[in-house]
Amino acid sequence: MNYIVIGCGRLGSQLAYRLFLRGYKVTVVDNNSAAFKNLPPDFLGRTIEGEATHYDIMHRAGIEQADGIAIVTNSDAVNAIVGHVARSVYNRSNVVVRNYDPVMLPMLQAFNLQTISSASWGAQRIEEMLHHSEIRAVFSAGNGEVEVYECKIPPGCAGQPLADLLPDHNCVPAGITRGGKAFIPTPETRLEKDDILVISATYEGIEALRKNLKAFEEAAQ
Ligand code: AMP
Repeated sequence: MNYIVIGCGRLGSQLAYRLFLRGYKVTVVDNNSAAFKNLPPDFLGRTIEGEATHYDIMHRAGIEQADGIAIVTNSDAVNAIVGHVARSVYNRSNVVVRNYDPVMLPMLQAFNLQTISSASWGAQRIEEMLHHSEIRAVFSAGNGEVEVYECKIPPGCAGQPLADLLPDHNCVPAGITRGGKAFIPTPETRLEKDDILVISATYEGIEALRKNLKAFEEAAQ
């Protein structure tokens, strides 16, 4: 497998090294040769100094044959243009771009590109860790519009049917782990203390679930 990573800063260098450790052929492009110092000394991929927007640079990187292209510079405009060209001119389907400034996210989405917004994603994670330790996200779809969460059932919810805990919209159950064994619950399944409920939810859905959990806990006191 041939991968191209465009931008060899804090994100690109880590990504390139991870792909390299998996045994893939990796080519890294950056317009600042000093950026290649971010790569660990045992990285044995190719490095190309040059402008990502220049045809000859992308041709040298092997864009025509690449199995996957990550465009992770610190310019949303460059990421959008190169991502769009990779898909529409070179017909590369496996293209992922970085969103650097969250304000520019709608612009990248307008190009219909697979986009990872590390700032938005990181902010969500940190907020959750600070305030909501009983619920933690384990998988993020898109840019976190839908996430899969694990929720530890507190004592106050024990004996309640699942249907009473879950909000009506934007929050669906995927499984319960009880005593180390997982199963698919029904709305009638009665929750037990320390069950791990796995749910898929939007931001609104998970906030509604948090409110329900709090209400059950307060009622039980
Ligand atoms: P970082 O924000 O630390 O992940 O670094 C982003 C990297 O993208 C830096 O090393 C920049 O030199 C690189 N970069 C920015 N614009 C371009 C461009 N037009 N072509 C190639 N590399 C770029």
